[in-house]
Amino acid sequence: IWNQVLKIIEENTTSISYNTWFKPIKINSIDNNVKIAYLESEEDFIIKVLKDRYLQLIESSFKTVTGEDYRVVIKNSEDYEQVKEEEAETNQPVLMDPKLRKQKIFNPRYTFDNFVVGNSNKYAHAASLAVAESPSEAYNPLFIYGGSGLGKTHLMNAIGIYLLENNENLNVLYVSSEMFTNEFIKALGENKTREFKNKYRKVDVLLIDDIQFLEGKDTMQEEFFHTFNSLYDLNKQIVISSDRAPNKLVKLEERLRSRFMWNLIADLQPADYETRVAILMKKAENANIEIDDDLYEVICLIAEKIKDNIRELEGAFNRIVSFSTLMDEKIDKVFAKRILKDIIQNSGTSATPEKIKTIVSRYFNIKVSDMESSKRTNSIAFPRQVAMFLCRDMTDYSLPKIGNLFGGRHYTTVMHACEKIQAEIHNNDSVKEVIENLKKEISE
Ligand code: ADP
Ligand code: MG
Repeated sequence: IWNQVLKIIEENTTSISYNTWFKPIKINSIDNNVKIAYLESEEDFIIKVLKDRYLQLIESSFKTVTGEDYRVVIKNSEDYEQVKEEEAETNQPVLMDPKLRKQKIFNPRYTFDNFVVGNSNKYAHAASLAVAESPSEAYNPLFIYGGSGLGKTHLMNAIGIYLLENNENLNVLYVSSEMFTNEFIKALGENKTREFKNKYRKVDVLLIDDIQFLEGKDTMQEEFFHTFNSLYDLNKQIVISSDRAPNKLVKLEERLRSRFMWNLIADLQPADYETRVAILMKKAENANIEIDDDLYEVICLIAEKIKDNIRELEGAFNRIVSFSTLMDEKIDKVFAKRILKDIIQNSGTSATPEKIKTIVSRYFNIKVSDMESSKRTNSIAFPRQVAMFLCRDMTDYSLPKIGNLFGGRHYTTVMHACEKIQAEIHNNDSVKEVIENLKKEISE
């Protein structure tokens, strides 16, 4: 990542400033979990200049490369050495920025305030807030699951931040299962398993992220099972996240799986269109970007195109914003389409009107030629409307063009079909399911 970031910086600074300020810095480490990049230099003066004048450029270059908000911390190399010693002593990862250290291991952006609530996540949000307000009392353990990029880590951080804000002395620990595993393996190698166990058994609230990582890892499951039980017996709050429901974690020991069933299981679903728009609006607001008509249009465009993953949704938005800063161009639909070309095309490449017609006809057991015919019986009209709707939704074809593909119908007929199906999706869950299944099949 760092080399790509440097390249962008090089393109956007004069060669003198690049050589003076950026040549002498090195990357110390990147924490992809909480999205912090640690840079180092031996010259305090350089560090100061970078912090004062170039931090924004560095951070926006990270955004351009990764599509995500990285925070950049720049320190003197000696400071890192000190941190290393401290880590060795305490056997705990130490965050390098004191401000962040106070916040422990949480990403300060991942708060409840910044979490947009919609139908897809209101249950998980409410459960998380309840746990943050009354740990060990509301729901214990709380199990949150949902696909990648739907807000699990955000909610877990929000719980942690909320707890610490209201009680500084609470021992709140957030780990991913991967960190948990690595730490245990390291402790094993150094004969420090006792310290490891003590550390985990001392916490008041354990937030353990991405538990699916333990699937098929028997030793780790055993270890986690013990940790879990001892905390649970002491009535300590446990929050677990996973990309699947507990009963779908097939490679997890039965006893662990059934433990997870004990209390509340809350799911995160892909956000609906309104929520996706609201999330991007909030993001723009937080970044102090003025939301004019053009930007609003762009937000709607992104929300329309990226449906299943909020991380990707934000990534697309970030990319547009940082490119617009770098290239000093105003954000509008044309600009956005140019930047997002790869994403938008990829999301639609596999859907063609032919494919849609074929799959829809097969599904309703009619002939493709029926779709193009003038027949108006309901058994044919409805599938035809569905196919028109899907063409509109999944391809870039215009209404008149779609009309042509269905036996030369007028574009208002297509429009009417789209409106009708849209309404049915809203009012009728089985239609909604049919459409979803068809879409899935078409995009495969
Ligand atoms: P997961 O851990 O489920 O893979 P994350 O919690 O990392 O997903 O979320 C991915 C990105 O989407 C994060 O930047 C997060 O802030 C953002 N995000 C997810 N859900 C919401 C929401 N409801 N409101 C605002 N931002 C959200
Ligand atoms: Mg996560």
